[in-house]
Amino acid sequence: MRLHPRGYQGLKDLEPLFHSDPWRVRADLHCHSYHSDGLCSPQQLTAKAKAQAVELFALTDHDSLKGQQEAREAAESVQLPWLSGVEISVTWAGQTIHIVGLGFDPEHPLLVAGLARIRSQRLARAQAIDQSLAKVGLEGALDAALSQVRDIEQISRTHIARWIAARCGFSDLREVFARYLCDGKPGDVPQRWASLRDSTGWIQAAGGVAVLAHPARYRLSPLLQHCLIEEFREAGGLALETASGSHALREVLHFSRFASQYQLRASAGSDFHAEQESRRGLGEVPMIADVVEPLWSKWYVSH
Ligand code: AMP
Ligand code: MN
Ligand code: MN
Ligand code: MN
Repeated sequence: MRLHPRGYQGLKDLEPLFHSDPWRVRADLHCHSYHSDGLCSPQQLTAKAKAQAVELFALTDHDSLKGQQEAREAAESVQLPWLSGVEISVTWAGQTIHIVGLGFDPEHPLLVAGLARIRSQRLARAQAIDQSLAKVGLEGALDAALSQVRDIEQISRTHIARWIAARCGFSDLREVFARYLCDGKPGDVPQRWASLRDSTGWIQAAGGVAVLAHPARYRLSPLLQHCLIEEFREAGGLALETASGSHALREVLHFSRFASQYQLRASAGSDFHAEQESRRGLGEVPMIADVVEPLWSKWYVSH
């Protein structure tokens, strides 16, 4: 048996996992650095992962590959098996969904150009949010958000939410989102990100695998959920992120059964952004339920 060589970063580092039971591998394949809406550097995230005994790690900034090289170098320096990663913003049936790409070539021109296109929409969208928040008495959101980012193309609702939280005395960003930034609230500005097919197409062209991030977080009827998962699978999607830091245990189990029903695999990720904001720390991810095969066993093929 050998590791699957497909477009995979840091292949040789994964060799020790070959000896493990894939269901017991401690994987965190979803987190954010200060190159998107997290507060840590890629190096700090890697150190946290190592300290938590994570065995397989990926940094998945929103629509950005800026931290990949730093994460790779930091992971390699502590012998932490690492995959390239990204979380792509997609609009599907009028809703935002997130597709995580893993194990791709971070320099592939189609992926690089597609992500740049998404990032180029962020500033205009933040300006629109700024104007609509000003109408409900929250003036200055854009400047406040811009002062937090390292690059204007990273500007996100999280940066605006942090400013509202500080200004209005909220301790939980989820409350800020619920009051100001979610659907139907003053800061809700309709947006068209990438299409589902484009996102999976870019990931696949770059040799990686596509994962539907935190499936319990979308508000979809059972029929729409079925359509989304079918379309994701037809577009080449491989796994559901069943074990998400944002899922309750019953959601982990529900989506594990779902993944197995649709012949998809399971992925795991904390979706860590910052120590003071995340419910779970980096690496604190539920186990993959045994009804579904972990994504990473894909990379062990017999011949
Ligand atoms: P954006 O890409 O600008 O739309 O921002 C999306 C990010 O906002 C997500 O990745 C989360 O980090 C954060 N976010 C979205 N909804 C919520 C929520 N209800 N509570 C807390 N954070 C949220
Ligand atoms: Mn985020
Ligand atoms: Mn997400
Ligand atoms: Mn995320």
